[in-house]
This record gives sequence, C-alpha cells and structure tokens, in this order.
Amino acid sequence: MNIGFIGLGNMGAPMAANLAAAGHNVVGFDTVDVTVEGVSMVTSAADAVADADVVITMLPNGDILRAVAAQIIPAMKTGAVLLDCSTVDVESARAVAADADAAGLLPLDAPVSGGIGGASAGTLTFMVGGSDTAYDTALPLFDIMGQKAVHCGASGNGQAAKICNNMILGVTMIATCEAFALADKLGLDRQAMFDVVSTSSGYSWSMNAYCPAPGVGPQSPADNSYQPGFAAELMLKDLRLSQQAAQAVDADTPLGQSATDLYTTFVEDEDGKGKDFSAMLPRFETRRRT
Ligand code: NAD
Repeated sequence: MNIGFIGLGNMGAPMAANLAAAGHNVVGFDTVDVTVEGVSMVTSAADAVADADVVITMLPNGDILRAVAAQIIPAMKTGAVLLDCSTVDVESARAVAADADAAGLLPLDAPVSGGIGGASAGTLTFMVGGSDTAYDTALPLFDIMGQKAVHCGASGNGQAAKICNNMILGVTMIATCEAFALADKLGLDRQAMFDVVSTSSGYSWSMNAYCPAPGVGPQSPADNSYQPGFAAELMLKDLRLSQQAAQAVDADTPLGQSATDLYTTFVEDEDGKGKDFSAMLPRFETRRRT
C-alpha cells in the first residue's frame, strides 16, 4: 500500500519503520527534522498524503489533530482511509471523522496501548472506531504494527475505550500504591503483601504485571528507579481526557476525578514529571495522613 504517515515522534517513527520494513511504501511528514529507516520524508503534510491509500496520524493532541486534518483531508484521494492513532478527546475524534466522511474518505480512530516498546516491537493493541469497510482495509496494517486490534464500533469509540481503560489503570495504580504504603506502616512485608494480593480479590494489572514495589513481582519500572515505562504526565493526559469526556456526557466518575487530581498534584507540584506513573508508591511512602 501507499501510506502517508504524519507525526513521526516516539511512537510514530517505529510504527512507520515497521510498515516500511514489511514492504509498504511509506511517505512521512513531521514538523521537526526526523529520519526514519525506510520512510521517504517530504516537506508538507499535503505531499505526504496525495497518493496514499491509507494516511496514519500519530500526533500529540486533539487540537493538533484537527489542524492537521484540515490540511490533509482536501489533499487525500477519495476512498482513502484516514487512520488516527493518537490519543485525543472523543469530540475531536468524532469531528475529524465527520469531516473526513463528508469528503468521501474512510475515517478510523485507533488509539494504542503498549507504549514505545510495543511500537518498536510491533506489539501494540489498537482500539478502533469507524466503519467495517475502513477497519477491514486497515487490518493488515494493524497486524504489522500490533498484536491485537479490537473494533469497538462507530467513530470515537476507539478513543472512548482507551480513556475508560486508562481511567481504570490510573485508579488501580493509586489504590495499589496506597495499599502498599499502608501495609508498610502496618509492618507487613511487601513480598507477603504481593503474594496475597496478586492471588486474591485485590489483584489487578497494576499489582500483578506492573508491581509498583521494587524487587517484588515481575520486572517493572519500579526495578529501574521508576524510569518510564509509562510516564506520570502521559497518565495525567489520559485521565484528563477521561474527565473531559465524563463532563461532556454528564457521567459521574468520582474515582476518575480523584485520580486526575492526584496525578495533577504529583506532576505539577511535586517531583512526578518524567517518572513512571507507578512512582506514586514512593510518594505515598513519604506522606502522612492529613
Ligand atoms: P511525540 O511528541 O514523541 O510525537 C508527536 C510527533 O508529532 C512529534 O514528532 C511532533 O513533531 C509531531 N507533530 C506535532 N505537530 C505536528 C504537525 N502539525 N504536523 C506534523 N507533525 C507534527 O509523542 P508520542 O509519544 O509519539 O505520542 C503520540 C501519541 O500517541 C500521543 O497522542 C500519545 O498520547 C499517544 N500515546 C503515546 C504513548 C507513549 O508511551 N509515548 C503510548 C500510547 C499512546
């Protein structure tokens, strides 16, 4: 396929490289100077998309996505797929999809989980919103860039799935960290705490697969001085998107709001920026009940 790829940052660059390595013709555009193996770089977004059967965007936020979409939608071939893999607000995803649809394009929102490691290894999970026709066209590309794709329904539903998942993740990580800090103060050994909880009803991905306590459970960023991993500021971005969406549809999400408030404090007022999101545990360790 001819693929246009816009936004070749930490995630986009390895995704584009994997598509090129699989034999696709990938033309890339980014506002900063980047070199990606196998990808021909051009100097405008419109040039990157003119001949593309599928255009992939991997951009920082919804405003940038809207601005890029306004440039590329008129330049794309009728019937081409516009596949946005960025994590953005549901409203922006749906607005861009409506514009693309009106222009005779096939829009998909397909945010990912799996991080930079998953992007490099081609093991991302895609959560996809859009039509069956668009999904079927993009499926071979999901197979190259990822290990799993789930078609979640109409446009915007990929983003909805992503922020609901990550709201659970933020809440369970905080719950796991505060429980470890409580266990410490109660004199419970961390290994014993892990052995019990990981096989009891308090288990979760945060405890079992990404344990925030160093030296306990499987290897995780806690074993590497809380180097990310999944940075606290990216967790905060997704939690804010979850609360923006909750506000828009009048959903009551008190724990999602609490998690957002805690990560805001951690990232903006404390030393959380640049640390893995599981560094909530050393934060709780040093605190007392207020
Ligand atoms: P990044 O900042 O490394 O990459 C974004 C790229 O977009 C940059 O290279 C930037 O120069 C480019 N860009 C910005 N404005 C542009 C424009 N107008 N035209 C063309 N290019 C433009 O970010 P990232 O870590 O690659 O993340 C990309 C998206 O993936 C984000 O929405 C993020 O939330 C999501 N995501 C990231 C991770 C992760 O672990 N990094 C995991 C899952 C999802």
